[in-house]
Amino acid sequence: MNAAPPASSPLARWLTGPRFAGMPVLSDDLPAPLLSFEFFPPRTEALEQQLWACIRRLEPLAPRFVSVTYGAGGSTQARTHATVARIVTDTTLTPAAHLTCVGASRGEVDDVARQYWDAGIRHIVALRGDVPGGAAYEPHPDGYAYAADLVAGLKRIADFEISVAAYPEIHPTATSPLADLDNLKRKLDAGATRAITNYFFDNPTFLRFLDLALAAGITAPIVPGIMPVSNYAQIVKFSGTSGVKVPAWLGRYFEGVEDDMETRRMIAAHIAAEQVRTLQANGIDEFHFYTLNRPDLTYAIAHILGVRPTAGT
Ligand SMILES: Cc1cc2nc3c(=O)[nH]c(=O)nc-3n(C[C@H](O)[C@H](O)[C@H](O)COP(=O)(O)OP(=O)(O)OC[C@H]3O[C@@H](n4cnc5c(N)ncnc54)[C@H](O)[C@@H]3O)c2cc1C
Repeated sequence: MNAAPPASSPLARWLTGPRFAGMPVLSDDLPAPLLSFEFFPPRTEALEQQLWACIRRLEPLAPRFVSVTYGAGGSTQARTHATVARIVTDTTLTPAAHLTCVGASRGEVDDVARQYWDAGIRHIVALRGDVPGGAAYEPHPDGYAYAADLVAGLKRIADFEISVAAYPEIHPTATSPLADLDNLKRKLDAGATRAITNYFFDNPTFLRFLDLALAAGITAPIVPGIMPVSNYAQIVKFSGTSGVKVPAWLGRYFEGVEDDMETRRMIAAHIAAEQVRTLQANGIDEFHFYTLNRPDLTYAIAHILGVRPTAGT
């Protein structure tokens, strides 16, 4: 009779270790996922050119929409408006304009929303926003206090399509995970039809969040926000107070290639594509990419996922 293999041997690991199903393969049976892309409004002429080169490169991928962020307290109001308005007039894309209510009266926010509507923008990503400089949030005395109030206000102005923010790792100032889910439900009940999540790196955390949302009665799509990372030190700093955990394994990928941008970008495409493909294997078929106004990583990842340029763009 053969002796049992030592517990630490490769054979024992093979016999007792978990089995994993294959990742989805590109085939006619697997439709390409639906994608949306996020940009930020440019501050300078050079950044404006970078943004438009980014938009032009990604346009043929026919995303379902592209969104443009809104600076804290309305600091980018004119630039956000100019960017989404130009997307309407000069491209085949459907823009979604972000809008925050922090530091503004209802009248001011409503005016911005009306200007969006008049410029042909029909989709708003409605957010509370943060106080610039990191001070504790206080609602404006005449303002919309929270994003749920903003959603209701926008719906009174016009029949906008509205997306809202969600936090798989919980919003950093939420009193509890359940309170945060209640808040998400309030935003959807007020008229939003989709949630887009903050970026995250741990897929099980996102999948558990979906389970909890469903248990809380949330059935609207919760679209994972994907942040391709090519600079580990930068993402650690950027994630500081946001509640997003940056796992140690992510850092290991970049050990020793800190000064090698080309290799870091290849690694970034691999990590993000693997994250998305694992989520696809769990049935998720729409994704929102934080492009940081740089198209190449997003383009490469989209290509890996089977998203190809459409004719005529
Ligand atoms: C997809 C996405 C896009 C974003 N785009 C931008 C952008 O363009 N510009 C920008 O400045 N920021 C942006 N943000 C950041 C966002 O503004 C911040 O995360 C902000 O802190 C919370 O915004 P919210 O809309 O989620 O707020 P809310 O949904 O209002 O929630 C904020 C916090 O308040 C709590 N809360 C809600 N209602 C109540 C209540 N009645 N009483 C007590 N507590 C309550 C919630 O649980 C949560 O902790 C974005 C975030 C995401 C995920």
